[in-house]
Amino acid sequence: MTDLVKKLYKDKTLSKDEFIELINSNADTREELRALAEKIRIENYGNDIFIRGLIEFTNYCKQNCLYCGIRKDNKNCRRYRLSLDEIMSCCAEGYKLGFRTFVLQGGEDPYFTDERICEIIEAVKGKYPDCALTLSIGEKPRKSYQRYFDRGADRYLLRHETADKNHYEKLHPKSQKFENRIRCLYDLKEIGFQVGCGFMVGSPYQTVQNLADDLMFIKELNPQMVGIGPFIHHKDTEFKNASDGTLEQTLLMLSIIRIMIPKVLLPATTALATIHPRGRELGIQAGANVVMPNLSPVKVRGDYQLYDNKVCTGEESAQCKSCLEKRIESVGCKIAVSRGDSKNQ
Ligand code: SAH
Repeated sequence: MTDLVKKLYKDKTLSKDEFIELINSNADTREELRALAEKIRIENYGNDIFIRGLIEFTNYCKQNCLYCGIRKDNKNCRRYRLSLDEIMSCCAEGYKLGFRTFVLQGGEDPYFTDERICEIIEAVKGKYPDCALTLSIGEKPRKSYQRYFDRGADRYLLRHETADKNHYEKLHPKSQKFENRIRCLYDLKEIGFQVGCGFMVGSPYQTVQNLADDLMFIKELNPQMVGIGPFIHHKDTEFKNASDGTLEQTLLMLSIIRIMIPKVLLPATTALATIHPRGRELGIQAGANVVMPNLSPVKVRGDYQLYDNKVCTGEESAQCKSCLEKRIESVGCKIAVSRGDSKNQ
């Protein structure tokens, strides 16, 4: 093993310059990182891959993230929201298929007041007390997070997007503050949620220094989950001509994060599956241990387009799951029917 890989393995962290050197490493070193990350995944989670049923319950959004296809100013986006009944049928379908975690993700939709979110939490947790409920609904005041937690929500996903304030400001309008994003993550942790942060690999203006900062931020926050996937351009955004993040760099970042936080939950994301036909499988072989297939009703799937050419928008959930099962088995793993809580506490 090269010295830097050994050092990361032993110390579980590096200096910023060392991270930069590692991110710039050659194919041999990248393969060392991949193999080590896969070994560490197996040591901590065996061959179990956790599945999360993703329910994209609204694509209305009051925010204007410059990279995102459901940003408020995108007039070409056909907007929808699911009713409580529709959300409950997604869960029923998911439960039958073996899902024991539901992820409610959406834009920041003012229609879904804290009351309405709490009503959903209560309904889902009341009917499925053996399941974990994850929210991914953006930036809220601390007291809202506290209400969701008190009603029974277990986890919260909020990608930090980039740990560099200047870079953050290039990806978001002025009204969206870097400090608030970070405040949200620390509030969520203090309240007691299992928290997931994360970022896009290859987002516009991203430098190797930014990626090193992302790694150092993740190390410091020490979250239970880290969601990363390649940036993919969307035709109706300012970044429509920007180049997409690469497979190689996304896999490299997955592996480094697995080695740095051995027990973290690491999804092989839909964005990764979108840029390569075997993206999810390669992600698992690089250290990922979670997949988040879509449980949203097929009629709205095509409308939740954060980026162009998103995969898996046509199939019914059952078809989706059996396809996934085969893919996961092809890399020597199996789907676990469990909540799949993080061992990183
Ligand atoms: N509104 C919620 C969740 C929905 S967006 C929130 O703010 O957390 C979920 C994630 O999709 C974002 O955090 C972002 O990292 C990712 N995303 C958005 N646009 C993308 C794009 N063009 N390419 C890749 N990922 C994107």
